[in-house]
Amino acid sequence: MSELLFLLLPIAVAYGWYMGRRSGDQELKDTSLKLSEKYVAGLNYLFSDQSDKAVDLFIDMIKVDSETIDTHLALASLFRKRGEVDRAIRLHQNLIARPSLPIEQRDFAMFELGHDYLVAGLFDRAETIFIELLEHEGYQLKSAEQLLHIYEYTKDWEKAVAVVESYKLQQKAKIATSLAHYYCELAEPLLARGDNDGLKLINQALKADNACIRAYLLKASVLIEKGDRKGALKCYQEIPNQDVDFCSEIVAAVEDLYQGHRDPKGFEHFLRDLLQLGAGVSILIKLAQRVAITDGDDAAEALVRQELVRHPTMKGFCHLMHYHINSAESSKARSSLKSLQELVSTQIRIKPKYRCCNCGFSSGSLLWQCPSCKSWGRIKPIRGLDGE
Ligand SMILES: [Zn+2]
Repeated sequence: MSELLFLLLPIAVAYGWYMGRRSGDQELKDTSLKLSEKYVAGLNYLFSDQSDKAVDLFIDMIKVDSETIDTHLALASLFRKRGEVDRAIRLHQNLIARPSLPIEQRDFAMFELGHDYLVAGLFDRAETIFIELLEHEGYQLKSAEQLLHIYEYTKDWEKAVAVVESYKLQQKAKIATSLAHYYCELAEPLLARGDNDGLKLINQALKADNACIRAYLLKASVLIEKGDRKGALKCYQEIPNQDVDFCSEIVAAVEDLYQGHRDPKGFEHFLRDLLQLGAGVSILIKLAQRVAITDGDDAAEALVRQELVRHPTMKGFCHLMHYHINSAESSKARSSLKSLQELVSTQIRIKPKYRCCNCGFSSGSLLWQCPSCKSWGRIKPIRGLDGE
């Protein structure tokens, strides 16, 4: 608080001096006198350790006019940064209440007031302001983004979709990604109760963003439930083309689909194609398991060793140990290798499996919106030595 007073004191003094200089007529002289009285009262509060009252008095002293608008805006911003949102709100409200305030500064003060309300958790008031600003030139996108923050926080997905669609904001790539997830959020409860409209929403998600992995995963599981295994397989096959990092998320479901078609060779080809695309170690392990069935453990081990030279991973080394355990001649060597494998497996299990590419937040499960940076679709399976 004391550092703010050091800022406010000279501003108040300068303003009093300025008013005094201009006090050519009686009215201005009276104003100047009142300011001096307030200044003395402010100092009294200060010396009697009532710094809160002193700050409020000094704010009142700086009357809003064309010369002090920027001072008010700067002070309000400073108060909000310090967590004193009520004072920031008061300053912005004072500014907006002036009918003679130029339109650019009014819009700016309104936007800032909306921001104050957001910080204070007064979402309904913030929403009203940002909805009004949607119609003001230069504030449409900024206000829409703030509204989307509110609707994401309150999980009001219908309103979020309406804002994006009404103002055609999906042309911005980042907003198109968010829109696809809003449709997925709307679809999930419908899909859970078997409502066919869920699939329509998923198709709208893919129309908004045809790289939305979540929408492909949801669509594939709906099609499996409907008995359309071919359609489901097509959805899963599209995922590596959009983002090869998500291959580990589909491998078990795709294996089921190929088994349903009694087509193990087809599955093996699919896995080899994924490895060519740069898929991670889960795909390598699955392929090695297939090779072990068809060509034996030695061929599987050679495949794993060859891939690990190019892309070393803990999970891959752990799987490689499996072949050494099987081929160990003495029971002592087998038992030592088993303990070692158990230790490595435990380490792999306790490590996070997913990480946000935007902020680095890590998680044990796949989340579609990052709890830390709020980005959509940026949390992916971890790649590298500790991951895939
Ligand atoms: Zn993040």
